Amino acid sequence: MKSRNNMTFERLKYYRHLIGGAFGCIQSRLSKTPKPLCFSLMVTAKCNCNCDFCFWKHKKENDEMPLEEIQRLLREAGELGYLDCILWGGEPLLRQDFAEMCKASHEAGMYTKIATNGWFLEENPDFAKYTDLSFVSLDAIGKAHDDIRHMPGICDRVMSGIEYHKIHSPKMRIYICCTVSAKTDFEQIKEVAEYCKKADILLYFTVNKSNQALEEAQNVKETELETSQLAEIFVKIKELKKQGYPIRNSYYFMDYIIEKKNYYECHWPRLATVIYSNGEMLRCYDRKPFISVKDRPLKEVIKDPLFVSTVNECKDCKLSCVGNYALDASGLWRLEWPAIKSLMEIAIT
Ligand code: SF4
Ligand code: SF4
Repeated sequence: MKSRNNMTFERLKYYRHLIGGAFGCIQSRLSKTPKPLCFSLMVTAKCNCNCDFCFWKHKKENDEMPLEEIQRLLREAGELGYLDCILWGGEPLLRQDFAEMCKASHEAGMYTKIATNGWFLEENPDFAKYTDLSFVSLDAIGKAHDDIRHMPGICDRVMSGIEYHKIHSPKMRIYICCTVSAKTDFEQIKEVAEYCKKADILLYFTVNKSNQALEEAQNVKETELETSQLAEIFVKIKELKKQGYPIRNSYYFMDYIIEKKNYYECHWPRLATVIYSNGEMLRCYDRKPFISVKDRPLKEVIKDPLFVSTVNECKDCKLSCVGNYALDASGLWRLEWPAIKSLMEIAIT
């Protein structure tokens, strides 16, 4: 039977995005003024779940940008050459105007991704018309996942929503996003991998590590695995990938964790612009706001000396995040062959 993840004409867009990403990295590398290519926008801080490892647990205020403001930002991001946009939350599908935001990102020419806990996949499905890739959270199967998310019934809704979109949104790539934390063990992770294989969808593991000793990240700290526990789990995850489970983390990423490394030179903020729901950009190392895009052209903000100096400082950051794409992207930035090779492998499979 043909897999929904096989190469299609539609996937060429993904290649454009990857090749553009590599050129963007080189361009940004050669310039003193950053040329970010990923536009990451939290559209709401509200969420129907209450996960113990939520980074945003203490930021549940209602201060959201209106649709028109978000549409303006997305249009400007496309004009500035951002290639890729991820819309997230909180739970983005809580916003009834969310499909309009996906549409604006799509029309701005960006490869459009969303991250959702999956509760509203069927109830609020129109986003999928304009979305290239959806990350749907699933950390374990059945009640174990419901307990992690403190949301009874969410595992069933995720699976049913995925089946719905496999039929109604055949071009949208679906990734399960599985958080590796002290809340799960390898057996549960393996069940998620089995489910993805059977459902013919992709799987990405995200690591729950706050790194920062922030007061508000205390809950995250409490669910973190020790470096050696994490390494042990990733030895087994790597084995699953070799056995053909549809895992999309790079070997570069997995080997970094397996080898218990604790430092790399990070360039993530030069490549990705992260905006909080109220329009403030947050510094990644302490999640504090440093500049706002509200009522201000994006073009002007990314040329502001405060923006330029803040993001250029990132190479001196010692936190070495492994919880997002910072590690892979920084490897690509430094043109390290293992990172390039690993990402190329993902691109062609
Ligand atoms: S689903 Fe995401 S945003 Fe919502 S509580 Fe959980 S981790 Fe936080
Ligand atoms: S390691 Fe990179 S992404 Fe993490 S806080 Fe430092 S600069 Fe930001």
